[in-house]
Amino acid sequence: MKDRNTGKKVRTKRAKLIMRIVGGIVAAAGIALSVVGIINFVNFDNGLRFLLFAGLPMTMVGIFVFIFSFQREMTRYVVSEGMAELAQAQAQATAAAQAMIGGTVCECGEVNEADSVFCKKCGRRLHAVCPKCGATVDADSAFCNKCGAPLGSADGENDGDKNL
Ligand SMILES: [Zn+2]
Ligand SMILES: [Zn+2]
Repeated sequence: MKDRNTGKKVRTKRAKLIMRIVGGIVAAAGIALSVVGIINFVNFDNGLRFLLFAGLPMTMVGIFVFIFSFQREMTRYVVSEGMAELAQAQAQATAAAQAMIGGTVCECGEVNEADSVFCKKCGRRLHAVCPKCGATVDADSAFCNKCGAPLGSADGENDGDKNL
């Protein structure tokens, strides 16, 4: 019971291998029958021309089974890739939509409340708060857009060139 998954995986793998072998054999036999059928159809007026009608569908079925045994893996790969891309696109769309309705998108991609001062995910500063009136202003504002008080340079840590 413990290795039920492993057993299932092995079974699937074996089933695919059998599909490939059977598909290959059927396709090869179908082609052989078709060739014999065509030769007989063209050159001889005997009963063997029915082989063409048996061989062609057999070739088709064999090739289909053969391709299908690979396609399941391909499909799974494409699906997993597609899902990752879809999730990324969805996250971007969500960020864009929330930014439109007034959220603040951090550089890390997290969407915060419009008046958030720090990113809730990475802690990056999103807005500055005016020390004089308490208004929320852009992090890179030099002056408060509500009361005009100087910002950032007030604590002297942002403008290094001032000390030169
Ligand atoms: Zn962030
Ligand atoms: Zn202010």
